[in-house]
Amino acid sequence: MSTIAQPIPAAAQASRPSLAGLTRAGLADALRGVGVPEREIKMRTGQLWHWIYFHGVTSFDTMLNVSKVLRATLADHFTLARPEVTSAQVSKDGTRKWLIRMPSTGPFDKGAEIECVYIPETDRGTLCVSSQVGCTLNCSFCHTGTQRLVRNLTAQEIVQQLLVARDQLGDFPGLTPPTDGLIPSGEGVRAVSNIVFMGMGEPLYNFDQVRDAIAVLSDGEGLSLSKRRITVSTSGVVPEIANLGDQAGTMLAISLHAVRDDLRDELVPLNKKYPIKELLDACRNYPGVSNARRITFEYVMLKGVNDSPREAKELVRLLKGIPAKINLIPFNPWPGTKYECSDWETIETFSDIVFNAGYASPVRTPRGRDILAACGQLKSETEKMRARARLMLEEQLALSSD
Ligand code: SAH
Ligand code: SF4
Repeated sequence: MSTIAQPIPAAAQASRPSLAGLTRAGLADALRGVGVPEREIKMRTGQLWHWIYFHGVTSFDTMLNVSKVLRATLADHFTLARPEVTSAQVSKDGTRKWLIRMPSTGPFDKGAEIECVYIPETDRGTLCVSSQVGCTLNCSFCHTGTQRLVRNLTAQEIVQQLLVARDQLGDFPGLTPPTDGLIPSGEGVRAVSNIVFMGMGEPLYNFDQVRDAIAVLSDGEGLSLSKRRITVSTSGVVPEIANLGDQAGTMLAISLHAVRDDLRDELVPLNKKYPIKELLDACRNYPGVSNARRITFEYVMLKGVNDSPREAKELVRLLKGIPAKINLIPFNPWPGTKYECSDWETIETFSDIVFNAGYASPVRTPRGRDILAACGQLKSETEKMRARARLMLEEQLALSSD
């Protein structure tokens, strides 16, 4: 390596960007920016890639096959920092929930907060990641849709959720796993083996960043998650569904929740734009769909709203001919919602009809309820606590100025 950029002043160093979570193209640009010559870019990118994603290192010092001079230049300009974990909770059943604060993007951004949930089972570990802060879509039963602040996450911020999870789970070489809850391990079993885009946000409204993040998550020389173990859940952004199959090649989940357009218009307002028939046509044509690669249809069980036996039969009829799995989700109530979760017997009757039509084990067991590990709830609780603290402070100030 010939040209090395000049040292940068301390003030600039305080805001050194992190390289952790970048795509290959992003890393290459960063290297060019500090003067690495073009002929070395590919090789150096490969080296950084291996250290960041295979070893999970957080310091340039450990990159022993990178020259000392380049290591020092990189450390002058960049970090390998992860975003801050502002809250970490472990449920009795081993489910973990982290609230992660992304660094501020400008003077008017205090730093977005997103949530990330880890659900361990004996043979797998699933990480539920967010694709946006909040969501613009306002599904009537979803708490995330009621949050005002919305922005897209970058591909880097999406990838960083897995890095944070693997740090916290002690799942990089040299780290020790925590002992306070189930973490799957053993021959061929990984702590995080599956990723679902079912946290905050609509992933297909942030398609480019989600696609780029998936390329990093599934890269065989780094994080190496199988694309068959990455599922993108959408409320039905029809024009992007084929692009997801072609450009990302992941599994697809559809938040269906209703079998008639009038009801779905109410529950998932995006249905007014892309009604059920168009959505199911896009599913039939999803690139790569087959009996071995089925589409998951999510159906949230809302008492007296969408949970009758007639609707179960209609659901089975609608999905005929589509390689499908059905996931019945018990509604997770939140303060102020007008909905209730269906009774257990109603869910069982619904589930029996679906089961008898040939779909196996369809009810999703609620996990981590004691730590509110579902859909926008941890963040909202934390926000509420902050609001309460602010209120108390304001009251104190008002009293002291009396
Ligand atoms: N925006 C995407 C992905 C995030 S939501 C989508 O809508 O598919 C992930 C899943 O959680 C969706 O199926 C969504 O409908 C469901 N969901 C949202 N709020 C819920 C709640 N309160 N109880 C149960 N499931 C909920
Ligand atoms: Fe957004 Fe999905 Fe919630 Fe609907 S269910 S508001 S699309 S996060």
